[in-house]
Formats: sequence, C-alpha cells, structure tokens
Amino acid sequence: MSVSESIGMFRDSANDFLGSADQRQRVRALEEAGGGFDRATWAQLAELGWLSILVPEADGGLGLGIAEVAAIAQEAGRHLLPEPLVDAGVHPIAMLARLPSGDLRDALLARLLAGDAVAGVAWQERAGELDPCDGATRMRLTGEAASLTGLKRFVRPALGADGWIVSATLDGEFALAWLEAGAPGLRVEHQAGVDGTSTTTLSFEQASGQLLARGDAARAALAHATDLARIAQGAELAGIAQRSLELTCEYLRTREQFGKPIGSFQALQHRLVDGLIQVELSQACLREGLQSLRDDNLGSVASRIKARCAQAATEMTRMAIQLHGAIGTTNEYDIGLYFKRAMALASRLGNPASHRLRWRRQLPAPAGAAQASGEAIEDFNPHQDWERMPEARFRALARALFARHYPEHRRYMPYRQSWAQSREWYMTLSRLGWLAPAWPRQFGGMGLPPDKLIAFIEESEAWGVARPPDQGLVMVGPILMRFGTEEQRQRFLPKVLSGEHVWTQGYSEPNAGSDLAAVRTEAVLDASGRHFIVNGQKTWTTWGADGTHMFMLVRTDKTVKKQAGISFLLVDLKTPGITVRPIRNIAAEQECCEVFFDNVRVPRENLVGEMNQGWTVAKALLGFERLFTGSPKHSQHTLHQVERIAAQRGLQDDPAFMAQLAQLQLDTADLGAAYAGFAEIAKRGDAIPPSISMLKIWSTETWERLALLLVEAAQDYASIRDHCRNDEIDLHVVAPLFNVLGAKIFAGSNEIQRNILAKTVLELPS
Ligand SMILES: Cc1cc2nc3c(=O)[nH]c(=O)nc-3n(C[C@H](O)[C@H](O)[C@H](O)COP(=O)(O)OP(=O)(O)OC[C@H]3O[C@@H](n4cnc5c(N)ncnc54)[C@H](O)[C@@H]3O)c2cc1C
Repeated sequence: MSVSESIGMFRDSANDFLGSADQRQRVRALEEAGGGFDRATWAQLAELGWLSILVPEADGGLGLGIAEVAAIAQEAGRHLLPEPLVDAGVHPIAMLARLPSGDLRDALLARLLAGDAVAGVAWQERAGELDPCDGATRMRLTGEAASLTGLKRFVRPALGADGWIVSATLDGEFALAWLEAGAPGLRVEHQAGVDGTSTTTLSFEQASGQLLARGDAARAALAHATDLARIAQGAELAGIAQRSLELTCEYLRTREQFGKPIGSFQALQHRLVDGLIQVELSQACLREGLQSLRDDNLGSVASRIKARCAQAATEMTRMAIQLHGAIGTTNEYDIGLYFKRAMALASRLGNPASHRLRWRRQLPAPAGAAQASGEAIEDFNPHQDWERMPEARFRALARALFARHYPEHRRYMPYRQSWAQSREWYMTLSRLGWLAPAWPRQFGGMGLPPDKLIAFIEESEAWGVARPPDQGLVMVGPILMRFGTEEQRQRFLPKVLSGEHVWTQGYSEPNAGSDLAAVRTEAVLDASGRHFIVNGQKTWTTWGADGTHMFMLVRTDKTVKKQAGISFLLVDLKTPGITVRPIRNIAAEQECCEVFFDNVRVPRENLVGEMNQGWTVAKALLGFERLFTGSPKHSQHTLHQVERIAAQRGLQDDPAFMAQLAQLQLDTADLGAAYAGFAEIAKRGDAIPPSISMLKIWSTETWERLALLLVEAAQDYASIRDHCRNDEIDLHVVAPLFNVLGAKIFAGSNEIQRNILAKTVLELPS
C-alpha cells in the first residue's frame, strides 16, 4: 500500500468511527462529569490501531509515520473527539518508541498500545517552555526504584490517567521516570481546562516511581516525541479550522436578517474569505511540512505547522462566533466548542508566537541572490527534449542562461522596466530562441511542458530578472493560438517573437474598472463591412507609451446583456485617430497611459473570435494569470530587503521587530506552500480551481505588510524617494510599498477576488 493510500485509509476510518457518535455531545457530557474521558472509547481507538501507528513493528506497532497520525488528528479536530489523542495517544507512545528496549519500557509500551493503560508526559515546570531542559525536579535512585521531589505543571491527560512519564535531573543528568497515579508522595491537583478537559499540576515529595531512561537518548526521545505531538496538534487544529469554516458557511446561507440570508452581505463574505485563506494556508503548510519532514528538520517543521494551524484555528473560530451572533456565544451551540478546543490546543506545547520565533531560530541562513551552479552549461538549444530533461538540470540551464546573458545591473529592479530598458534582454532571448517558453514549437516557442515552464518562471524570479513588456507573449499569443484565424497567427505571432510588435492591454476604461463588462468604447462596422470605426477611451494601459499594438475589448452590441455585446479587437496604435497620453504614477514613474480613439478605422480581419464573443476570449486567460499574480516572488524579495535592513540597522535585538519579522516570514513561507500546491495542478495540466484567487490576495497583502515593516524599520529613510546608499543603509526603501499599492488593484482587485471566492468556493448567496 502506498503512503497516500494508507493516509486515505486512516482518514476514512477515522471519519467513519468519529461520525458514528455525536462527539460534541460527548464533550459536553464529559465536561459535566469533571473533565475526564471514556475508557471504552479509548480501548476502541487502540483496537483501530490509532495508538500503534508510530511504533515499529518489532515493538508491536504498525511502523507507519506521522502523516497517518495527522490524517486521524485532522478528523479528530473536525469531529471534536474529547479523548486525549495527542497527549496520551501520541506524546508518551512516540517517546517510548524512541527509547532503548528494557523491561519497564517494553511492558509500559505494550500496555499503552493495547489501551490497557493511559499515560501522559510530565515535563514542563513553567509556562511557555519549548524544549526539554533541566528543571528543578530531582530524582534519587535506590536500585531501579526512583524517588522524585519537585513539581510539574500543565500535565495531560489528568483525570483518568494511570500514570505519567516524568522528566527530572538525576546526578546532574537528564532522566525519565514512570510514576503510577496513586504513587506515595505524589499530589495531584486538577484544573478545569477551557475546552472541558482537565489539566493537572503534579507535586512530588519523595514520590516513588521507576527509572525509565537517562542521558542524552532520554532527552532526545522527549524532544522528538514533543515535536511529533505538535504536528499532531497542528493537524487537529487544521481540522478545527476547516470544520468551523464549513459550519459558519452553512449558517450564513440559512440565517436570515433584513429579509435575506446574512451570507449575502459583502462585509460577512469578505471576513469569511479571510477565514478561508487561513484554512487554505494551514492545509498547504501541513502538506508541505509533512512532505519535507526529515529527522534533522523535525523541530522546525513542527513549529511551523503548530504556528500556522493554531493561528488559522483561533482566528477562524473567533470569527465564526462573531458571524453567528449571540447564539455563537452559548454553550448549547457547537461553534463555541470549536473555539474553546482551538484555544486550548493553541496554548499547549508552545503557542503560535513562541513557535514562530523557534521556527525562525532554526532556519538556515538566507541564501542571498541566486547564483549559477558553476557547471559549464552552454547548450541553450531551444529545441531539446524538455520532457526527458531532469528538472534540476533544466533549472541549472536556466540559471546559466541568466548568468551568461542577463545584464547584472538590471537584477532586482525597483520598478517596472520600460521597453527601452528591457529591449536588449528581449532581443537576446529572441535570438537564442528562449523568448516564448510556453508557446508550442510550431509557433516558434520552446514548447516547455508545464513543470519546466513553472521552473523557468521560478528561476527567473529568483534571479531578479525584470519582466519586459511581455503581453504579446503571455496574452496575445495564447489568445490567437486558441481563438485566432490562421491568417492572424501568421500575421502577428512572428512579430511578437522578433520584437517588432509591443502589445498593450486595452481593457479598463474610466467607467469600466472592476465592472469590466461595462466597457463603452464602441466599434461599429462601416457601410462596406470591411472596417470597424472605433470611438472611446481606454485607460491604465501599462507600457502604453512603448506599445505598438493593443488588444482591446470593444462594445459591438448595446442592445443585449452587457457581457454579450463585447468583441475582441487587435489594433495598430499608429492608426490615425489614436492619441496616447502618459500618466505619471505616485512613485513618479511613467507606468501607464490613457489611449483615446477618435473614428479609428480597424480592419475587420483584426476581430478575434466571433463578433460579440469577446468576453469569452478575455476570460479564457484568467486562470493562468491568477497563478502568476499569486507568486511569492515579491514577498520573498521584500523579505530579503527587510532582513538586510535588520542587519544594516542592528534590529536583531529588538523583540517586537523580530516577532513581526517571524510572523511575516512564516506568512511568506506558507504563501510559497499554497503557491506550490496550485503550481502542481498547473504542472499536471489540470484545470486550476477557483480557490486560486486566495493566492493573489495573500501574496499582495503579505507583500504589503512586509513593505510596511521595511518602511517602519527604515525610520527617516522612508521619507526618501530613491535608493538610499550610505554608510548606514543601502536599499530602495519605498519601492515595494508603491508597487504593492498597484498590485492590490490590478488583475482583479483584492475585493473582487474576495467576491469571487465568496461565490465560487464558499457558495454564499448573492
Ligand atoms: C499599476 C496598474 C496597471 C494596470 N494595467 C492595466 C492594463 O495594462 N490594462 C488595463 O486594461 N487595465 C490596467 N489596470 C487597471 C486595472 O485593471 C483596474 O484598475 C482594476 O480593474 C480596478 O478598476 P478601477 O481602478 O476602476 O477601480 P474601481 O473598480 O472603481 O474600484 C474602486 C474600489 O472599489 C472596489 N470595488 C469595486 N467594485 C467592487 C465590488 N463589486 N465589490 C467590492 N469592492 C468593489 C475596488 O476593489 C476598489 O477598491 C492597471 C491598474 C494598475 C493599478
């Protein structure tokens, strides 16, 4: 059985088992009974094999991995299983499984796996401890009998546990002892937890136990098991976040106020989309973390998963209560139970803020600017067998191409580059045959398969290659290949490749922005039927001053529904009657133009697709465009600049700054994980789901938060318009902020993306 089949099997079995009883009612009943758990249910979990997953087969376990545990824990979170799956089913068992074999260890492990005994791990003495350290609890030995003196806090499970594995110092060495619940000298003080379960403080006064293990191996086993428990906690939290999103959607679709479902209110839709984004990020982070898990990165993966999933679950459940109104604050209604469980899990074994910092501490040093491999690769022949080339080799080839041909002084440019600035690079790519990686070979492209295409884009972003005016390549080309005539392809495609035609996008108008279907620029066929006469105005035309041509949406029928009367035209901007007026933006850059059309004659053969079918043509490109507007490259680059300013201005000792930085670093990493998930779909050539709109929102809003942190860290330098270069700082401080202000608006503003997600993914009413 493959790993994914085994994960699927555990997920299904967990869903079936947990769905066979109302776990939420059980949570309430057990809370009423004092906060314990049900031994009969625990025995069933043991029978299902849930407790044996992480234990090697030689020790009577299933010898599987944490991914299977995570699949079950997610379902436990969705259903709100009250039994202590992580605290008793993962933490002590994973630890015992790592300890060397011995009579006590083997017997205890066997009892725990069979469900005959339930144990917890008592290792913390203070709130917020993250790693096993030498605390104040002391152990003395007489033979194998241990005597413990000291105190352990936040111990779980509490009520109903048969004993605990306790960490202590034995002759200056780290050690673990087993203590039965009724051991002489042990005082147990239970506290009610926020989620209805109980937690205990254990005080020892020469309490009698048995030595289980000592030395580095014991400490390492505890550290390892605690990180596995955090991953399981993260999965449980991800399940909580997901289920509370679903429950809130269901409520918003049915609860009516002001005569309609409250889910039709845009304020609530947009808030819930923010919850959806957190849920998607937690799933992406969990997926990537589990896939990348190795022994040497366990701590960092566990902290990352715990931090994101706890943030997602606490934000989502808190929002869920608000969107439910008063009923959400009652004990009878389920949503509050999810909130309380999220709160409890988020605080245990390290809260999100602590884990963000721990994750950051464990990161390898930043890589800096991408470098070529040093391997002599000179064969840039664009007609190689790309399908068969290994991805790593292809990436090395792309880096070699940039190292050899891309002008060094144009790496990581602060603003969009004009045609004059990027023409040389465009022509180099054209000469080498690398200009149109996505185009099929029959049209003069490289015919890269999707995985290599994404690799090429990622490598070029990592190298800091500025995007040249490329709308002929990424928009006009694919449109003509799909909707154009043979004559149009032959007339236009070669001139994109030769750099003779620079294309611009003429969609927006003064009164058609987000509501693009409201375009009014009119195209009317003249009496001969051979020419359209175009009148009107386009605006915000990027590269308008450089453009030789425009692909545009025009109104060709005013009598039908607005989307139905639009056509798609190709226009030579040198045609008489066209006036281009540059617009300087707030960064003092000349990025866009307005373009006026006064009785402009456009040949009928420049119509793409059928008359009045322009909306279909325009929409066809959206999926792919959304992937690239959601790329993490801008956030990664700005993050790199924040790291640089931190070093230049000595901010590494400022805890408030470092907490913000760690949060944003994690936001960027999880953006990368979400992007990779969608890129995988694109690589397979499958249809990209509508949830991709979350990428554009999260990428631009993460980028904006980073740009703001850069500005804040720069203090007075944030008042300087250009690159600051002196003994204190060497950065363009304000460019990211100016850039992101536009990025949140173009390619469908973030509000429009939220509308799309609310409708297509959350299925909220209009
Ligand atoms: C840097 C830059 C480059 C651009 N390049 C091009 C280009 O090359 N070609 C081109 O055709 N266009 C281009 N655009 C235009 C871009 O597509 C539009 O700006 C965008 O569609 C928004 O339209 P608008 O500016 O008219 O804002 P409006 O639609 O007027 O929106 C104003 C505000 O209201 C919000 N809003 C509008 N409708 C809704 C709604 N239904 N629900 C909730 N909120 C709503 C918007 O999100 C925004 O916050 C560019 C824009 C920028 C900033």
